[in-house]
Amino acid sequence: MCFRPPSAAKPVECPNCKKKIPVVGGVKQKVCPFCKTELPAETPDKPADK
Ligand SMILES: [Zn+2]
Repeated sequence: MCFRPPSAAKPVECPNCKKKIPVVGGVKQKVCPFCKTELPAETPDKPADK
């Protein structure tokens, strides 16, 4: 139900305008295309060693 496909990157949410910025082709946006706010560098959604 709440599993996600392994190849789908989760979208980044803008901390300012709360819009979801989709990660296309594994390329993550550095700034929000909507409000130009700098996006936080999010760690990949996989455990380091566990
Ligand atoms: Zn934004």
